[in-house]
Amino acid sequence: MAELVFFSGTMDCGKSTLALQMDHNHRARGRSGLIFTKMDRMGESVLSSRLGLSTTAREVTDRLDFWDELVEFATTGHSVDYLICDEAQFYTPEQVEQLARIVDEMAVDVFAFGITADFRTQLFPGSRRMIELADRVQVLQVEALCWCGRRATHNARVVDGVMVVEGEQVVVGDTKPGTDTGLVEYEVLCRRHFMRRMNSTAARAAAASPDTLPFDLDLCPVPPC
Ligand SMILES: [Zn+2]
Repeated sequence: MAELVFFSGTMDCGKSTLALQMDHNHRARGRSGLIFTKMDRMGESVLSSRLGLSTTAREVTDRLDFWDELVEFATTGHSVDYLICDEAQFYTPEQVEQLARIVDEMAVDVFAFGITADFRTQLFPGSRRMIELADRVQVLQVEALCWCGRRATHNARVVDGVMVVEGEQVVVGDTKPGTDTGLVEYEVLCRRHFMRRMNSTAARAAAASPDTLPFDLDLCPVPPC
C-alpha cells in the first residue's frame, strides 16, 4: 500500500541527508523514483545536504502540477514507484493535495521532507496540509542542538546578527551583505532561547555585559564561537 509520509524536523536535523539516503535505498532495490525540491540552498534543481552530498532534482514552482507531471512522465513510458519531495514546507497546499492523490490513485509512495514552522513559530501552509493529509508524520530523530546544548525546536531568523520575529515568511538565507535586507541567516534554538530572542550572538554579548544578572548567565552560558 502506497503511503504519504511527512518527515519533519527543524533546520539542521538532517532532512536532506535522509532524503538522499531514502532515494539510494529504494533505488538499490530496483525501484525508480523522481526527486523534487524547492529553493534548495545550493540553487535550482539540486537537492543538497549539509554533509556535502547532492543530486540533481526537479525544481518545484508554484505552477507545477504534480499530477500532470506524473501523468506525462508515465505516458512517455517511464514507471515511477516513489517520489522524494524535499523542502515540502514551500509547496502550496494544492500541491500537497496532488501528492496525496498520486499516492491513492497511482499507488506511488511519496516521501516528503520539510520543516514545520517558520521563524515566527507559525506553520508553513505546505507543512500544515502535509500534517493534515499524511498517512504518517515522522519527526526526525537526529536532533539539532541550540547553542546552549538543549534540543533545538525552533527556527530563528537572524538579520545582521539580530533575531527577528517579523517579516516575509520565506526569505532564503545567506542573502549577500549590502543588500536592503541585510545578511539573513537562520539559527536553530531551544524554545527557551527562542522566546527570549537569545541567539548565539546575543548570548555572547549578554555574557560579556556587566549588567547581566546571575540568573541570566545561568540560563545563558557563553556559546562557542
Ligand atoms: Zn537554548
